[in-house]
Amino acid sequence: MITFDDLGLSTRMMRAIRSVGYTHPTPIQAEFIPIAITGKDCIGQARTGTGKTAAFVIPILETIDHRLPEVQAIVLSPTRELSEQVAAEATKLAAEHNCQPALLVGGRSIGSQLKMLERCPSIVVGTPGRVIDLIQRGALNLAKIKMVILDEADRMLDIGFRPDIERILRKCPAQRQTLLLSATMDAAVQRLAQKYMQSPGMVDLSGGEIGPSLVEQYFCTVDENRKFSLLVRLLYEERPQQAIVFCRTKRGADKLHARLGKRLKRNVEAIHGDLPQRERDRVFRQLRDGSLRLLIATDVVGRGIDVSGISHIINYDLPQSSDDYVHRVGRTGRLSSDSNGRAFTFVTPEEGDELTQIEIRINQMLPEMKYEGLETVNNRRIKRHVDKAAEAPVVSFAVSDDWPDFDTL
Ligand code: ADP
Ligand code: MG
Repeated sequence: MITFDDLGLSTRMMRAIRSVGYTHPTPIQAEFIPIAITGKDCIGQARTGTGKTAAFVIPILETIDHRLPEVQAIVLSPTRELSEQVAAEATKLAAEHNCQPALLVGGRSIGSQLKMLERCPSIVVGTPGRVIDLIQRGALNLAKIKMVILDEADRMLDIGFRPDIERILRKCPAQRQTLLLSATMDAAVQRLAQKYMQSPGMVDLSGGEIGPSLVEQYFCTVDENRKFSLLVRLLYEERPQQAIVFCRTKRGADKLHARLGKRLKRNVEAIHGDLPQRERDRVFRQLRDGSLRLLIATDVVGRGIDVSGISHIINYDLPQSSDDYVHRVGRTGRLSSDSNGRAFTFVTPEEGDELTQIEIRINQMLPEMKYEGLETVNNRRIKRHVDKAAEAPVVSFAVSDDWPDFDTL
């Protein structure tokens, strides 16, 4: 087994890693760090929760000159929540370096960010929109940048940050190191890498993603109009510690929230792009401190969720793309959680093709979970291209008292 000692790190860095409590590098760290600390451009692909942040933070801390009062590394990340998590991880790992990364995100007072920049931090972490804003105000100068990190590159492009990212990259010196981290590598990410990176090294660990040992994944065949009953049954059966229910549209999320809210009263929130930042923060906080058990979300905001207690993902609607499936399910079964996660995907009999796309993407056939009394009309089955489907486990119904609010169901 590879240890941090094998990665060629400084003694100061090793002290910091020990104090954070990491004993062994994760696979992406073991492969990515040795390339990145040579100064080479590098692309790292691995599923959510595999420790990609430390994989680039450690090379940053090893590369920049901690005595120079200038911005030397910039990390771009898609959402405020993810930026905050990167900044927190960097702060932990930089405990021995006397260096405090500056967090530059929207929805926060720009005044305090301007002040932080006056103190010439060596590392800045932020969302592309706010970073551009600060460049335009003349507060952030990228002329001395040594390293640019594009974190969660696929999500940044999904949100439409491409023009902003390109503008920022053009402001950075051509002589720099560029690192790119992504859970998925679609054509858009590859184009970005081709244009802005120089013969990058490639570490692709996506093959083993969301393995069955980490997340048990099932699908349920269900008619559209019985999805709600199935969801209620599932919640009773599974007693999730914390669950995220994914809907395809904002309207769908709101409708489901209203319907569930009537019965559950507390413990359920819906979150989507229309929600004000203040509200989103409140929901994320509650999710993190465990007071919120059930969250209904759309893909747009789902990517900001990075919480270790999530035990269940329920895909109430199929995701738009199989990459979205990987992102959704990547929310659970995380490195830091002790219990394995479970993911359930609701599939209508017409959606066999979409299910197959997902199975090809994750390179694994999903077993079916059946619930008595919730069969489809005429018992219509899903047509799958590869149909070696093993006998689906049939689950019996049992009420639990773990979720007191469910009494009203
Ligand atoms: P990703 O960016 O790949 O989604 P993160 O960087 O957010 O994953 O890491 C997920 C969790 O794993 C974080 O809580 C982080 O502190 C923890 N972690 C990272 N590296 C290690 C390690 N080597 N050993 C133990 N925990 C780690
Ligand atoms: Mg990450």
